[in-house]
Amino acid sequence: MDDSAPMSVVALTVGGTRGAAAQEPLGRPTEEDPVTTEHARPTWQADACPDWCVVLHAQDDDERDRTHVSASLSVPARQLLGGPGAEVSPFAEREPGGPPGSPEAMDSTAAADLAVCLHRRDGAPSTWVYVGDGAVQHLELSTDSWRRILPALDRVLELAGG
Ligand SMILES: [Zn+2]
Repeated sequence: MDDSAPMSVVALTVGGTRGAAAQEPLGRPTEEDPVTTEHARPTWQADACPDWCVVLHAQDDDERDRTHVSASLSVPARQLLGGPGAEVSPFAEREPGGPPGSPEAMDSTAAADLAVCLHRRDGAPSTWVYVGDGAVQHLELSTDSWRRILPALDRVLELAGG
């Protein structure tokens, strides 16, 4: 018998009786479900993880953290900050200003790696795309919004040339 094949991840079907009467006897909270494994789906999880989710959800995840999240793509970027002395992300590196009196001296800029990732609250219909530096600058919009923005970006970048 060949036992060398790794055990495949089994997606358990749970939560189908959500809202129905609890099957456990009242007044005696069960402790750990003995058949629960680290791959079992937590009982709070309404949706199977989307293909892009990299989170290992746990039964005791805080309600606010019950979200499917993708791996993050990192994109090097330059940011225009909101004027001299503007707030800058701790993950960004402020760039030296232009010489006094020059047009560049009017602006404050930084280099930062922007994170691009997807997230969706479990059970919710909307998937969001985060693009940001993790602190100061970000856009967090629905996938439909980004689909509308991308052609507009193409147009302005075409105008900008270069
Ligand atoms: Zn997930």
